[in-house]
Amino acid sequence: MSDRTRSKHDETHWFDLFDRRLTRRDFVRVGASAAALVGLGSTTGCSARAVRFTRDPFGLGVASGDPSPDGIVLWARLGADALLEAGASERAAPVGWELAADDGFRDIVRSGRTEARPELGHSVHLELEGLDPAREYFYRFHAGDAVSPVGRTKTAPLRADTPDRFDFAFASCQHYEQGHYTALRHLSEESIDAVVHLGDYIYETAAVDGRPRHHGAPETYTLDDYRRRYTLYRSDPDLQAAHHAAPWIVTTDDHEVDNDYAGASADDDQSPEALLLRRAAAYQAFYEFLPLRRSSMPSGPDMRIYRRLDFGALLGMYVLDTRQHRSDQPCGADFSPTCDEHLDPARGLLGDAQRRWLFDGLKDSSTRWNVLAQQVLMARFRTYDDAGAEVYSMDKWDGYPAERRRVLEALGAPGVRNPVVITGDLHSNWVSRLHEDFSDERSRVIATEFAGTSLTSGGNGLEQHPIGARALPHNFHFDFYNSQRGYVVVSVTPDRWTSTYRRVSTVEAPGGAVDTLGTFVVEDGRPGAVPG
Ligand code: FE
Ligand code: CA
Repeated sequence: MSDRTRSKHDETHWFDLFDRRLTRRDFVRVGASAAALVGLGSTTGCSARAVRFTRDPFGLGVASGDPSPDGIVLWARLGADALLEAGASERAAPVGWELAADDGFRDIVRSGRTEARPELGHSVHLELEGLDPAREYFYRFHAGDAVSPVGRTKTAPLRADTPDRFDFAFASCQHYEQGHYTALRHLSEESIDAVVHLGDYIYETAAVDGRPRHHGAPETYTLDDYRRRYTLYRSDPDLQAAHHAAPWIVTTDDHEVDNDYAGASADDDQSPEALLLRRAAAYQAFYEFLPLRRSSMPSGPDMRIYRRLDFGALLGMYVLDTRQHRSDQPCGADFSPTCDEHLDPARGLLGDAQRRWLFDGLKDSSTRWNVLAQQVLMARFRTYDDAGAEVYSMDKWDGYPAERRRVLEALGAPGVRNPVVITGDLHSNWVSRLHEDFSDERSRVIATEFAGTSLTSGGNGLEQHPIGARALPHNFHFDFYNSQRGYVVVSVTPDRWTSTYRRVSTVEAPGGAVDTLGTFVVEDGRPGAVPG
């Protein structure tokens, strides 16, 4: 394509993509956008041809994620049905975007265009740079004549600044069939700077009758299967509302791929080769549907999802991946007595590279608070089986005690101020003191763990499940337990960390109300939570 035809082509698209003609004054006002246009033109090469949509291509909503002090990822995905109807399933489609200071888009600060490519399921992951720190923005996309919903997002504070506060919510485990996303609707109405999702964003399992919702699909194995599963989940208006409300920071647990997988080992009889192919399909779909940076784009079965985000000098967040690099669960079953393999110091959840990265980061830490955002319960959970034998859930940190000891040592080093662990996976709320020695109540408390319940998984749940209630007397380090549905809102200030456990009255029917179960505070320099 010659330069001359390309520039003519671009101009056509410019008018095609936006529902208003840009005047000269607009170009002056948006300033950087003209430069952004030129820049994007050169990175996308030969421009995609316009697509005429006959149905809304933005049915999955929009999202943003991984805030930095000067940037953010903006995400959109053109709907497969809309592309099919427009005869554009197999080619790149142009997508325009706008970033504004206000949700009415009167003050547009940046705009440009990019393209949605079939290789990534027509998703867009736009990594903006050069934005203002700790600032709220609004964004939307255009494709053909269609305009997307509006998302709100926020950049992180400057690394050298200590903001007065940083507020976020964390959540996990949103099985579609087991409940309505009422908790996410309430979460979308909280006043927060970010959402941290700790995994089980989808469940790979086949449909089961008699649940609050039904999707009718078999278990997911191929890229097509996973894409359809995410499309189903992302069609939910409550999940969309939560994405539209704030930037998300996501990681995976097991159900994004397969229940309880460990590295290349499946929980059932799939071969490692089959599981790695499945992992490649699952990770690609995860990347395609979530607002991740290019650095997290998978390559075959490998995806770099562990990463660090800083929120000024106030909070350093280490987002972990305890599935992809872990050793297989020891001793054969979930709740099992110990065995030789269990105590092998070479086994772990993190893998050598991630553990080195984490320990190096903690060694250089200068933030007031240091949080590990991760999947499985770190506190010891000692219980007894019906025969009276002491047993542990080997899928959790309890299955990897040697590595847990090393992590707690790293968190307990003198340079690491205020370590906190936030946890998903176990579909119940737990507040714990992480002791140097879980069998000695007088041993040093190193960190505080806040485990958050599921958004829907398990249905409404109980105030206390019998398995949890039975363990309480055998674990002195638990300060709170509940197993109903909800999420946790965290407010971090230089002096204190406050976790507010929010509960929804029902997820098995629509329209549940939200209330507060409890508030727990960690004071600067004093690990272990006290009631707030
Ligand atoms: Fe789960
Ligand atoms: Ca899980």
